[in-house]
Amino acid sequence: MKNKITGLHHVTALASDTKKNLDFYAGILGLRMVKKTINFDAPDVYHLYYGDEVGNPGTIMTFFPYTGLVRGRKGKGQLTVTSFSIPENSLDYWMKRLERFNIPFESPQQRFDNEVFIYFEDTDGLGIELVANNTDTRKGFTYGQIPIEYAVKGFYGVSLSEEGYEKTANLLMDKMDHKLISQKENLFRFSASGKAGDFVDIICLPDSLRGVGGSGTVHHLAFATENDQSQKEVRERLLTNGLNVTPMLDRQYFHSIYFREPGGILFEVATSDIGFTLDEPKEHLGESLKLPSWEESNRSIIENGLIPIQLNIEKFHD
Ligand code: ZN
Repeated sequence: MKNKITGLHHVTALASDTKKNLDFYAGILGLRMVKKTINFDAPDVYHLYYGDEVGNPGTIMTFFPYTGLVRGRKGKGQLTVTSFSIPENSLDYWMKRLERFNIPFESPQQRFDNEVFIYFEDTDGLGIELVANNTDTRKGFTYGQIPIEYAVKGFYGVSLSEEGYEKTANLLMDKMDHKLISQKENLFRFSASGKAGDFVDIICLPDSLRGVGGSGTVHHLAFATENDQSQKEVRERLLTNGLNVTPMLDRQYFHSIYFREPGGILFEVATSDIGFTLDEPKEHLGESLKLPSWEESNRSIIENGLIPIQLNIEKFHD
């Protein structure tokens, strides 16, 4: 039977400074800002989406930048590391690039065969990895400031810090079409597609502190499903597991359901069939502030309350 969950869709995190956030993800990492909109539940705050050329599922990192938000603490019950996929042999390039922008990083480490990574944090302390590998067949995307042979291809995977692993593992495997594909000590790797880009690593850290929300922490992890029908089927499966699942919510560029997994992380299942070209052409994604229809009448008030942002691409050229 065809999987109803096809892989990862997006990761949404909290930030404290809109300009620094744009500089880090679109400038230094070279992702494209594919949508500039507002937090539908708090219209005085941006919702910024970064991704590949069109913001394909599995490449989308999104932020709510609340100016001055107090820093959170990464820990158990959170997605603690978001890993991006880079081509094999591109780590040297990235280490030099991070040095140039004064981003400290840890020495390269090997996790599995053909998988070498560096860990660093964004300006709010969010955990990021660049994973050099030769298994990801996706093309990278670049505005031109990063040579294409080094460009980020999208997610490699995510790491969930948990007290235990079995309940979360069973949820992923029994209800969400994931398979256990690797295991090493306290790390359990799952994937729905089996491919780089969709890895979900559960890391058991029973002795560590629980995470506390705030800037530099992830708000939720979204998995991809094809459309409303497949989402409905996943929702029904989740309900039989006793989970408290929201009704479908309209997020404009996808439809979503949310629930909390047994380890405490907020999961979402988002549809892949709408996308970011819904309200602006591919060539102009992210250029103007997009509002949901029910906020259009408040546009001038909303625009006045947001600081204008524009990436100075020249600053980030090699
Ligand atoms: Zn989401």
